[in-house]
Amino acid sequence: MGRRGGRGTEDWDEPASNRRGGKRRKAGTEAEDPFDTGAWGAATDVDPHDAAMVISIGSGRCRLFHEQREFDCAVPPELAKRQKSALAVGDRVVTETSEGGCRLAGVLRRRTVLSRPDPLNPRVQRLIAANIDVVIHVVSVKAPPLRPRLIDRFLIAIQRGGAQAGICVNKVDLLDAEERPRELAALDPYRALGVPVVACSIKTGEGFPELRALVEGKTCALVGHSGVGKSSILNALDERLDIATGELHKRGTGRHTTTASTLHDLGGDTYLIDTPGIREFGLWNLTPETLPDYFPEFAEPGEYCRFNDCTHLHEPGCAVKERAEAGELSRARYDAYVRLAEDLSQPGR
Ligand code: GDP
Ligand code: ZN
Repeated sequence: MGRRGGRGTEDWDEPASNRRGGKRRKAGTEAEDPFDTGAWGAATDVDPHDAAMVISIGSGRCRLFHEQREFDCAVPPELAKRQKSALAVGDRVVTETSEGGCRLAGVLRRRTVLSRPDPLNPRVQRLIAANIDVVIHVVSVKAPPLRPRLIDRFLIAIQRGGAQAGICVNKVDLLDAEERPRELAALDPYRALGVPVVACSIKTGEGFPELRALVEGKTCALVGHSGVGKSSILNALDERLDIATGELHKRGTGRHTTTASTLHDLGGDTYLIDTPGIREFGLWNLTPETLPDYFPEFAEPGEYCRFNDCTHLHEPGCAVKERAEAGELSRARYDAYVRLAEDLSQPGR
C-alpha cells in the first residue's frame, strides 16, 4: 500500500495550495498540522511497512495490527491525554516492549489525514483517520434525503487531508423510475470533477461491483451522517464484519456517544474504516483566498475574469459567474462557493 489512487483529475487530487510550496502549510503547533506527529514522530526512519497499524483506540490503550497479528498496546499518558488529536486509526506506529507489555513508542508521519475541528475548541483538530487512500462520503436518498449542499464541505475536508474523494449514494431502491434521474443528476457536477460517484442499494445489491472496485487494495474511510447506511455497506462488503445497523440498535450500544473510528481488514490489502456519524466538517484554516483552490473547475474560466485577483463574488466582468449563469459551469457548485465564501467572512464561524 502506499501510493495514492490517482483516478480523479490532477486538479482535484492535489489542491493548488498544496502543490505550490511543496509543504502543505507552515508548521505550527502539533494541533495545527494534523500530518505532523510532533514529538511522537521521532520514528520517521522506519519504513511504514515495518510499522504496526492502529485499528482502534480506547482509553489509554489501542489495538494494533502487525505481521498478520492483532494485539493490544498501551498508549503512554503524555499521548493519551491528547489522544483524539495525537493518534488516529490508520496511524503507523512503532512499539517497545517493557515489563508491562507493549507500549507505543512513536507515530510515523501521516501520508493523508481526515480530521475535523474539536467541537469545544475549533483550533484543535480531532483526527478521524490517517493514511487513507480514499474517503467515501456516503449519502442517501429519501431517508435521510439527498442534500447535495452538504457534499461540498465534505469534499473540501477530504481534499485538504490529501486523500482521494468518492461519493456513494445509497438507498437508490427508494427512488421510483421518475424520481431517479432527477435526484441523481444533482451529483453530475461532482462526476464532472472526476470524483467517482456510485449509486448503490443494500437492498438490491445495485452498485456493489463498482463500490468494491473503488475500495479494493486501498485503505478507505466511510464518512457521512448517521443513518445513511455506512454500517450496512461495510457489512455488505464483508459479511464477517457483522456491524450493528439501524438507529435504535446503535443507541442501545451507545455508539452515538462515541467518537471512535474502527479499521477493518478485508484481506487483499483492503482496509475499511468505519467512522462515527459526522454531521459537518468545519472550515478550519480556510480563507477566502484559498477557497477557489477547492473549486478546480473555476481555474480555467478564472483566467478570463477582468481582474486577475477576482474573487468571483461581486466583481464586474467575472467569467466564472458568467459561465455559471450560462449553465456552462455548475450553478449548484457556484452557489456553494458563494455560500462558503460568505461563511468564511463571518467572524467566529
Ligand atoms: P449508518 O448509521 O450510516 O451506519 O447507517 P445504517 O447502516 O445503520 O443504516 C441505517 C438504516 O438504513 C437501517 O435501518 C438500514 O437497514 C437502512 N438501509 C441501509 N441501506 C439501505 C438501502 O440501500 N436501502 C434501504 N431502503 N434502506 C437501507
Ligand atoms: Zn471572477
